[in-house]
Amino acid sequence: MWRSIWSVRGPPKLQHFLWSAVKGNFPVKDRLAYRHITHDASCQVCGVERETIFHALLECNAVISFIGDAVRTFATLMWAGWRCRNLAIFENEHPSFVMVVAGFLRMVLDYNSYAQKVFIAAAAGVTTALRSDGWKCPPMGCIKVNTDAHIPAGGMASLGVVFRDVTGVVFAAATRKAHTKVP
Ligand SMILES: [Zn+2]
Repeated sequence: MWRSIWSVRGPPKLQHFLWSAVKGNFPVKDRLAYRHITHDASCQVCGVERETIFHALLECNAVISFIGDAVRTFATLMWAGWRCRNLAIFENEHPSFVMVVAGFLRMVLDYNSYAQKVFIAAAAGVTTALRSDGWKCPPMGCIKVNTDAHIPAGGMASLGVVFRDVTGVVFAAATRKAHTKVP
């Protein structure tokens, strides 16, 4: 364990932090309460859960969104790496990894902002409004796919697609940027 912590590249303070985390040497409220230094063991940030080391570092609402961002970025890097590998093997193409990563990160960000709008609209009952306006739920056993496109004069076109089930509930959405070709 000690050796693997010291193999993490970074400033010594980062390694000491990891070592303290592994040893449980943080003065979190849970430990202070255990030692009768305080009676209140609740988290000082969210005020909801007990402040254990696990909660403070990984579970608290205040940090969980940052962890989600980091995991998504890491997953996107791996995805881009896999894409580059497949391009090299099957297409004999060798694009810049940085460019592929940049494109993938952009795509993920676009997807998130689009999906957020769609799901927020669905949660606010916009789907129902659309339905009364002529949009009909698909028949049982079918999925309805609605698409949308924004094509600015020159530049990249934005494409969006939304999947709804038999109850009209949005269960998936996707976005894509595409080069526009003037005929
Ligand atoms: Zn908390």
